[in-house]
Amino acid sequence: MSAGIILIGPPGVGKGTQAQLLTERRGLVHLSSGDIFRAEIASQSDLGRLAKRYIDEGRLVPNGITIEMMAKRLRTGEVRRNGFILDGFPRTVRQAEALDDDFGDLDLTLMGVVSLTASDDTILQRLAERGRADDDIETVRRRLQVFREETAPVIEHYKGKGIYRPVNSDQTIENVFSDIEECLGQ
Ligand code: AMP
Repeated sequence: MSAGIILIGPPGVGKGTQAQLLTERRGLVHLSSGDIFRAEIASQSDLGRLAKRYIDEGRLVPNGITIEMMAKRLRTGEVRRNGFILDGFPRTVRQAEALDDDFGDLDLTLMGVVSLTASDDTILQRLAERGRADDDIETVRRRLQVFREETAPVIEHYKGKGIYRPVNSDQTIENVFSDIEECLGQ
């Protein structure tokens, strides 16, 4: 049995920063779908080449490929021993449903789905500071639109399950972190 949480929210809301703190302080394994794709791109694998076309345009990588990649990571012994943080996955209802199914066979438990929110101004400022290749204004606009259309329904998917935890990310890093800890009941 292994337990974990999902961090969900628009690009630039602070998911990666909070996931890193949860890893440092709680030892959870950080599974960022975006980081995994970027590592595949850097190693010039077939998966990386395929994913790059979508990422460069701010579009989602197809569900089947993404689900298979994340299921593989969730099966590792390290995840079973230490628990996990999913950052950037699931991003579509189809991915969330696949995760629900896999949870049956993998015997994984979701402790909470933390939904981070922040004002548009905060998000744009954080993305400008980060300056990643897909953070140019056109691509950011597309990614925010994809979030509203494809990922916001994932939040609705979890609301009915009693594990949905909204957290205001328009505060200092430490305050956001303590709100996350509080709503996870730790
Ligand atoms: P992120 O680092 O989470 O902002 O992700 C960067 C990019 O990777 C996204 O804009 C998508 O193109 C792709 N990506 C990351 N996670 C997923 C996912 N769960 N499903 C589909 N595409 C994803």
